[in-house]
Formats: sequence, structure tokens, C-alpha cells
Amino acid sequence: TGDDLDGKPSHFHALMMFTKVYKSLSLQQKFQVAMRSMAKHGRFLEDEMLVLHYVSDAGSQELGEKMLPELLLDATFRYEVVFHNVDALTEKLFPIVEAMQKHFSAGSGTYYSDAIFFLSVAMHRIMPAELKRIVQLDLDLKFRSNIRDLFQEFNHFPAEAVIGIAREMQPVYRHTFWQYRKENPKSYVGDPPPDGLPGFNSGVMLLNLDAMRHSTLYNQLLEPERVARLAEKYHFRGHLGDQDFFTMIGMEHRELFYPLSCGWNRQLCTWWREHGYGDVFQLYYHCDGPVHIYHGNCNTPIPDD
Ligand code: UDP
Ligand code: MN
Repeated sequence: TGDDLDGKPSHFHALMMFTKVYKSLSLQQKFQVAMRSMAKHGRFLEDEMLVLHYVSDAGSQELGEKMLPELLLDATFRYEVVFHNVDALTEKLFPIVEAMQKHFSAGSGTYYSDAIFFLSVAMHRIMPAELKRIVQLDLDLKFRSNIRDLFQEFNHFPAEAVIGIAREMQPVYRHTFWQYRKENPKSYVGDPPPDGLPGFNSGVMLLNLDAMRHSTLYNQLLEPERVARLAEKYHFRGHLGDQDFFTMIGMEHRELFYPLSCGWNRQLCTWWREHGYGDVFQLYYHCDGPVHIYHGNCNTPIPDD
């Protein structure tokens, strides 16, 4: 079932990062594909509402407001659009995620503006308590199934799970955990599926904000000392923001994550096949079963069905 905001149990919340879109034709095209496919396949009950949240700057918000009515023209469901100012969210986020940024950001310094890449990590602390569940989605997606079915996955979370997320489909974390894997040759860290732990991809995430708020363990893992200790243990140094954090704590505490099937985030990027990992690439890239959402990550074109 849906979610509760302002006492309405039939609201389904989805959030997308939507910054600098006004100056990128490529992001505008991705936005069109994502929203048109969401509208085309989306089915909801009569009393239900899809609430679309966009984290934007002023220019992107203006563009979004202009484009959305046309992109959602075919939608048979009710929807509402909410824009969140990226600067206002960054201000709330920065003090919570500042300490972890150095482990999971590109470059050497801790940049204030990079804090927004960790929004999902601390969303439960900065969104109103009435908001109990939210799905965070990339813009470079194409839906082939009803987005309402994605929300149904919340109902399969085991008791301790706080986030639903699909595995990463390239050997990027085999690379990141190289030193740890050398020191621990029997470990599954960075190994391919089905038995290994390939890490996570953040293109499609189910955030059970209520569970995140109530999980003592999850909130302990946000503490700077805990993050530093784990980063040291795993020799972890990344640059992919939230997905690095979730991947690292997932190696230690698998129970916090409900594994979404690969079809809900069928990543298409093949960069690592050509960069030293061709021999093992297919073990990671392989995905059986129906594709519900294509993810054209690293600017990979998405097939026309
Ligand atoms: N994004 C954005 N503005 C930007 C770049 C990225 O709003 O200038 C958002 C957008 O929602 C995008 C997400 O950040 O889908 C993650 O970036 P991207 O999908 O390009 O990363 P990839 O999946 O290729 O790693
Ligand atoms: Mn993406």
C-alpha cells in the first residue's frame, strides 16, 4: 500500500535529483524518457496519488514545471509535483554527512556542494516524519513496468531491513576492495553473484524512512567514528557517494538491505569490461528475469524495447 503524508494513506512518493538540467540537453532527454515511460506504464487505483519530488535549482525547477504536464499527458493516474530547493536540503544534510564525504567523494577536499550526493543516506533525518517511505530514482531510467509494483517491494522487507536496493552490475567494487580481497582471499567481498557481494547501485532505491529512523544500528553507522573504522577495515576509498556508503556498510551488515531483483535496476554501462575486468565482466553484468527498469548509466543508450 501507499504512504502517509498529511494523513493520506494512498500517497506514493518518488524523488529524483534534478539539478543543472536547464543547461544540459542530455539530462533533458533522459528526463523525457524517464517520465514518459513512467506515465505510459503507471497504473494506480482511483483514490491513489503518485507524488513526484524533484530536488532542483531555480532554473531546473522552472524547466521541470514547464515540461512535466506534457510528459505526463498520457498518465491515467493522479499525480502531484513537489520541488525541493537543493541549497536548502544541502544545508540540512552537510552537518550529518560531512565526515563521511572524504571516504566516498572524488578529489581530496570535502566540498559542501557534494553533500547532496548523500541525500539518501540521511533522508530520514531531513524529511518530515509524516513521510514514511520514498523511492529515489535516477533520471537516466526507462520504465517497462508499473512503478506501483516497485512500491509493493516495500512489503517484502524483512524486519531489520531499512533500504531496498539492487546489486551493482559491473565489477567496480571488485576493484575498490582489491586490497581487502588480497588480504582476505576467502572473503566474498566484491565477488560476483549469486554467492558473492558485488556491492550496490543507487539508481533505484527504496528508502523505508520509518525503519531508518527506528534502526539503532543504521543510525550508529552514520557516526563519523563508525564510518572511519569500517573504511579503515576495508581499505575503502570511493567516489560514488551514497552507493559507496551503502556498499561498505552492506559488507558488514547485510540484514539492513533488502535485495531488489536486478530487473528493477538493469544497468547498461559496460565501462569496466574495457578497463581490466573483461575476464569476469559477464559474471557481474548477467541478469536473468524480466527487465522492469532499464538504467542507462554512464550515458549508455537504452534499447527501444
Ligand atoms: N543528476 C542531476 N544533475 C546533474 C547530474 C546528475 O540532477 O548534473 C542526477 C540525475 O538524477 C542522475 C543522478 O544524479 O540520474 C545520477 O547521475 P547519473 O545517472 O548520471 O550517474 P550514473 O548512473 O551514470 O552513475
Ligand atoms: Mn544513473
